[in-house]
Amino acid sequence: MSIESYAATFSDTVLAVALLWLFSYAARIAVGVRGIRLWGWSHLAYTLGSAIQTTALWPLPVQHAGALLAVAGLGGLAVAMRLFVHQQPLSATERRLLALPLMAAAACVAYGSVAGGTELDSVALAGVEMCVIASFAYHLQALRSAPYHAPAQLMRAGCALLLLLYLADLGTLLVRGSAARLAGDATWIAADLSLWFLLNFSMVMLASFRALEAMRHMAHIDPLTGALNRRGFEAAVATPAEGAPAAAPTGVLVIDVDHFKQVNDRFGHEAGDRVLRSIASTLLSEIRPVDLLARFGGEEFVIVLADCDGEAAFARAEHLRERAKALQFEWLDAHVRITLSVGVASGPASDIERLRQQADEAMYEAKRGGRDRALRHGAAAQARAAA
Ligand code: GH3
Ligand code: MG
Ligand code: MG
Repeated sequence: MSIESYAATFSDTVLAVALLWLFSYAARIAVGVRGIRLWGWSHLAYTLGSAIQTTALWPLPVQHAGALLAVAGLGGLAVAMRLFVHQQPLSATERRLLALPLMAAAACVAYGSVAGGTELDSVALAGVEMCVIASFAYHLQALRSAPYHAPAQLMRAGCALLLLLYLADLGTLLVRGSAARLAGDATWIAADLSLWFLLNFSMVMLASFRALEAMRHMAHIDPLTGALNRRGFEAAVATPAEGAPAAAPTGVLVIDVDHFKQVNDRFGHEAGDRVLRSIASTLLSEIRPVDLLARFGGEEFVIVLADCDGEAAFARAEHLRERAKALQFEWLDAHVRITLSVGVASGPASDIERLRQQADEAMYEAKRGGRDRALRHGAAAQARAAA
């Protein structure tokens, strides 16, 4: 390898440090998003390890250690990509599938260090590189929607070219020996570094999009209860689920906790917060994924029930009221009972704001009627007219 190539390889390590800083920054913003920071650290380990492994200036044991570091970095990159794309922990099968090439590569390096050469290190590294790059291309297929699609496709193109590059190098290495290998060639190194730059560039873009999504998500969630806040509710209502007909029967419940001020006054604001969290998690556990729960100010919640007519909405309101009343607050006072006043309205899915106002009126009617009850919008007026 020429001096220029050494310089290129080590300037790549400096770039990897800068990228690590960028990825760590994105990870700090994208709270709860998996895979971003791990990508940064793994990429640095891989870059530094490869630089040491390919530098003949180092004593052999250091070069072997470099190969191991590079293999570990590649393993981390594979995990990071898998976590980043799917945002789910790895299954046991996936962990085994990943461990296999890594252990094979580590065994190769260990054997090579006993035999005294670095050729096996190169073969092992090229093998793992190919497995990991192929796994990137496989997982990136899942990022089909905007805004992820374009950078994911660009990254997949980079992966395809890198695979060709490593295949060519591995071929010459195995057929003609390490003296003829392409990886020592300045043009090959330049192509390799440019393609990894492309991969990282795309990854920075993907991570920024995820960070933006996480920020938008946080702006729509009430931090105390985890329910949607008013802004989140409005955004969710403005973008109905795909294929949901505008005329689909929809129930809206407006729920207000009765005499909640007394809970705060008797037990303190912290205890009040804990009660609110319990109520919200009870409500959340009772609704379906297609329904919505939002906290509209202090101790008032709104629920939108998809595909639910007036009768069913009223039955659900009564059920929720009973569930809240059955909650036990031993840590507060075993005798404390929380009751809810619930207003119910129903109509077409396209009219949710009007339904919410009707349910709000019904909730106030329920308050006036003595609290701890559910009331359908218009029911009180109908009852008065009938009397
Ligand atoms: P009503 O049955 O008429 O609804 O009576 P209420 O006491 O529940 O209603 P009121 O509107 O008089 O009081 C609501 C209370 O809710 C006052 C406020 O201190 C409390 N509150 C609002 N937001 C929070 C919160 O985030 N945490 C806690 N702990 N209390 C809150
Ligand atoms: Mg209240
Ligand atoms: Mg209130």
